[in-house]
Parts: sequence; C-alpha cells; structure tokens
Amino acid sequence: MSGNITKRIQELHETLPPQVRLIAVTKMVSADAIREAYEAGIRDFGENKIQEALAKQEQLQDLTDICWHFLGHLQTNKAKLALSHFHWIHTCDRMKLAQRLNCLVEELDITPPNLLLQVKPLPDPDKYGWTIPELLEALPTIETYEQLKIKGLMTILPLNQSTEQTKVGFEKVSDLAQQINAENLSNISLDELSMGMSADYQMAIEAGATMIRLGRTIFGERPV
Ligand SMILES: *Cc1c(COP(=O)(O)O)cnc(C)c1O
Repeated sequence: MSGNITKRIQELHETLPPQVRLIAVTKMVSADAIREAYEAGIRDFGENKIQEALAKQEQLQDLTDICWHFLGHLQTNKAKLALSHFHWIHTCDRMKLAQRLNCLVEELDITPPNLLLQVKPLPDPDKYGWTIPELLEALPTIETYEQLKIKGLMTILPLNQSTEQTKVGFEKVSDLAQQINAENLSNISLDELSMGMSADYQMAIEAGATMIRLGRTIFGERPV
C-alpha cells in the first residue's frame, strides 16, 4: 500500500469543483489500494473488465456504499452481469447493446441502470462508440427502448492530440448533449457528461464534465 493514494485524493478533493464527481478507475489496482482510496473518502469506483471487477467486489463486500461504474467495452453476453454488479454503465456504444439492455431490464424486472452513451466527437477508428452523426441517427430507435433511462454522454478522446483539439472534442460532446436535450426525448435526459481522464481532466471540467475518471493520477502508473 502506498500512502500516496491518500495524499493524491486529498489534493484532488481540495482542487476539484464540488459539482464534479470523481471516479477512481481501479483497473489493475488491488483491492487493498481500493480500500485505501475508500478510507480517503472515495465512493465512486470504475472498472473496465467484468471478471476483474467481480473478483474485487467480492473482496470488498463489507464496503456497502460503494457506487460501481462500468467503463469498458461491454459484450452483449456480459450485459446481464454488468446490470447486476454496477450502478452505472458508461459505455453503451452500439445499438445492439442498447437493445439487449432494454430487453434484460424488462425480462428481469429490475430498476434500469444509469446509462451513458459513448460518443466519438473526433475520428478515432480504434475506439468504440457512436460518431456524432451516427448517434443523432440512432436516437429515434434508442427512444423506443422504453426501459432505459439514458442519463448522459461519455467520451474517451484520442491520445496524442493538441490541447486545442482536446478542447474542441470535449466541447462538441457538451454541445451535443444540449442539442439532444432540446429535443425532449422521453427516456433521454443528458445531465451527465463523463469525460476527462488523468491526461485531460482539467480541460474536460472546463467544457462541463460532471464526472471525471482518474486512474493514474490517484494510483500511479499501471504496470505494463
Ligand atoms: C483507464 C481508464 C481511465 C483512467 O485513465 P487514467 O489515464 O489512468 O486516468 C478512464 N476511463 C476509462 C474508460 C479507462 O479505461
């Protein structure tokens, strides 16, 4: 365990605007380190692999007020597990998954998850998610998935681009949310913007992020 985790979290708590929800991203981070972050006041934790998350959740069962966020690419055959083990799913990135989640919520008769749609404001062939035109085209269909409650947008910007491009990317997502909200779709109300990671979270906050997802800033570099 490294006492640095506590120190870094304290620094973040002192500097982040109060409306921004800090999600500690714990992929490849041990349950002990998660515990330390919890002791330092973190309640929102993000994982990007189902199996890895389930193993740690098992070890942390006593921490009953953790809010778990799923941040990885979700295969449809794991959608059911994601629904039962996470409070938020940030990565609804395609129609097939939205449709599957909608069916499962109905079949299982459960409370719908807090769901975010993953968008790619800048061309990025390596990433999952809807481009802006694709998402606008998909909305009428998503609106028919009445079991879903879409709470916001999520984005991961490409690495290695200029500050200017990064700003533009985040602002595009923020503008898109406003544009969609103006349409008053029945099950889609985009109040949350999950954007910003260790490298770019300050710019994301300037563009209106309500949730930032920090791994390395809190836990240090991940092993490669
Ligand atoms: C790993 C990851 C993060 C955190 O990245 P850092 O650079 O460690 O802050 C945020 N979001 C997603 C989706 C991730 O996979």
